[in-house]
Amino acid sequence: MRVTKVLSNILGMKHIVVRDCVFDEEGLVIDVAPSTRIARCSGCGRQVRRLYDHRRGRIWRHLDLGGMRVQLRYDVRRVDCTRCGVRTEYVPWAEPDSMFTRPFEDQVAYLAQRMDKTAIVGLMGIAWRTVGSIAERIVQRLLPRDRLSGVRVIGVDELSYRKHHKYVTIITDHETGKVIWAREGKSAATLDAFFAELGKERCAQLSTVTMDLSQAYIASVKTNAPQAQVVFDRFHVQRLAHDALDEVRRALVAKHTDTEQRRVLKKTRFVLQKNPENRSSAERRKVAQIQTTNQPLYRAMLLKDSLASILDRQQYYVARDQLDGWLAWASRSKLAPFVRVARTIRKHLGGILAYLNTGLSNGRSEGLNGKARVITRRSYGLHSAQSLIAMLFLCCSLPALTPVKVLPKSHPLAC
Ligand SMILES: [Zn+2]
Repeated sequence: MRVTKVLSNILGMKHIVVRDCVFDEEGLVIDVAPSTRIARCSGCGRQVRRLYDHRRGRIWRHLDLGGMRVQLRYDVRRVDCTRCGVRTEYVPWAEPDSMFTRPFEDQVAYLAQRMDKTAIVGLMGIAWRTVGSIAERIVQRLLPRDRLSGVRVIGVDELSYRKHHKYVTIITDHETGKVIWAREGKSAATLDAFFAELGKERCAQLSTVTMDLSQAYIASVKTNAPQAQVVFDRFHVQRLAHDALDEVRRALVAKHTDTEQRRVLKKTRFVLQKNPENRSSAERRKVAQIQTTNQPLYRAMLLKDSLASILDRQQYYVARDQLDGWLAWASRSKLAPFVRVARTIRKHLGGILAYLNTGLSNGRSEGLNGKARVITRRSYGLHSAQSLIAMLFLCCSLPALTPVKVLPKSHPLAC
């Protein structure tokens, strides 16, 4: 069998002719060409006879073959398209402006859904930021255009990246458990952009929006989907109490002059923040000690623990009464941070009661949320918010991709 035929089988792509091959210092270089003689415009796909110029020896990286680097080479033409102007011709093996073949990009996308950064970069021999650019092209190609239709119950969340200096807002469809929209920023204008894309009709169909206690998001929902029930995420409400507890503890540490006492107090942070049911017997003894030696700190811990257990309640009316009691207790606690928490909760009471009533929270898609946070952390080093967003869509929105498989042309299922 001729080597060009062997290679054509291995490439397994349509509309491509293998002309020749050579070895260079990196591996195998396969000379290819599109099977159609007249060039197509990569902008509109039409055949264009007016050629502009050539770019000699342009290279596309393909999947390795038996561990050896494989590249495709072709003197790509530029066409003078009456619609699009001067454009590179369409080549059947790659997206316009990509330096990689489509199977190579598909493989990277498959791996990016499953692997950590070091493994992908090592296996494919590309930079991490290149993985980001590939994700952008894959998402552009595969993301369903109708993902905003039929949404009724959504979650709005902010994710921080670049060491908490930058944010993206992500929207989750609670019914499908998928990320449906994302954009850089966390302001009201950011969320307004989502509602604008959703359009008036679909905004009116939103029944519930879960979110944290962000004034910007609240304002945007009030303006764009006033009929939607706002539900505040219980974990954000709980975090207010966690932060207040820590503030009380730090103030006490600062107040103590005795270094031994300060040291003991500093060590209590972890024990106090833990859920009571998760404390070991040694930790419970530590809490008992705090109870006898440090009443304000003990009170702060009880306030934090009881708020969590109220939010755990299944019966709405019981929980509502207990929350009333909690608010009175926190307001009289003489602990300034908890007085403030009580004020915040009163201000947002409607949305917190709505949580008690519906049990809906961003925690419902907590698995997804956790995943999105992992992706965001992993995405450190990507060159733009667009790449990060593409990664989020790739991993939290697209269905699971499959590894690239090529069948010999004789196989009935080969392309
Ligand atoms: Zn064109």
